[in-house]
Amino acid sequence: MKVRELMDAEFPHSFLVSGKQRTLELQARSQEEMISWMQAFQAAIDQIEKRNETFKAAAQGPEGDIQEQELQSEELGLRAPQWVRDKMVTMCMRCQEPFNALTRRRHHCRACGYVVCARCSDYWAELKYDDNRPNRVCLHCYAFLTGNVLPEAKEDKRRGILEKGSSATPDQSLMCSFLQLIGDKWGKSGPRGWCVIPRDDPLVLYVYAAPQDMRAHTSIPLLGYQVTVGPQGDPRAFQLQQSGQLYTFKAETEELKGRWVKAMERAASGWSPSWPNDGDLSD
Ligand SMILES: [Zn+2]
Ligand SMILES: [Zn+2]
Repeated sequence: MKVRELMDAEFPHSFLVSGKQRTLELQARSQEEMISWMQAFQAAIDQIEKRNETFKAAAQGPEGDIQEQELQSEELGLRAPQWVRDKMVTMCMRCQEPFNALTRRRHHCRACGYVVCARCSDYWAELKYDDNRPNRVCLHCYAFLTGNVLPEAKEDKRRGILEKGSSATPDQSLMCSFLQLIGDKWGKSGPRGWCVIPRDDPLVLYVYAAPQDMRAHTSIPLLGYQVTVGPQGDPRAFQLQQSGQLYTFKAETEELKGRWVKAMERAASGWSPSWPNDGDLSD
């Protein structure tokens, strides 16, 4: 788990606590309060991690991580999940259809906490943490909790190149933050995008409408692009260009712009991390 500042002018004094499965966004009343909360979270996380290490050493299995994942899905229904905030997604976290106010509204799965559409949450399962009362759950949790096979007609699979969870946590990305998307190039999307260079796909920039979206609206293979600062001497703006293609971005701070330019230049030259924690720019 990690704690870091959100660095988003729209949500001052906010910070993110991210684990393997989801990210929690918290807002304090002042910068000072935010810092003391972040320190308290970090201390708690350090303590838990220290304890987990002793567990792992005792288990002595190279598959330690896999065991951890399985335990997490076994926890479904045993305790109330952390709900993913509505604002963190623009599309159903199961079928990836975009939400809107009229025909596709947001619902929460009471088992995993994901934000899903009505069709993907039209299932009920008894949850232990709610005294085994039936609760609205998503199709995945329904299948997991009841062992029932899903009616196939309801599961609409459309896999594509943009279908890559947004890797909201720093461990999963070489670089991620909001960037302003400038110019007509971006069409209806924008003005801000959650931009990610994933650790497991380090030569591609994915742009999402929101940090927990399961599907990007744009992906740009960075290889061969030229990264330039500007336009018009704006110290926070920078551009990607290659044979007629031009994308303009603006970061929230100059420091952040510097890190993005460096990350994109590396990707444009074909650089990949040679081991998992190499070249971490996002901390
Ligand atoms: Zn759905
Ligand atoms: Zn669920």
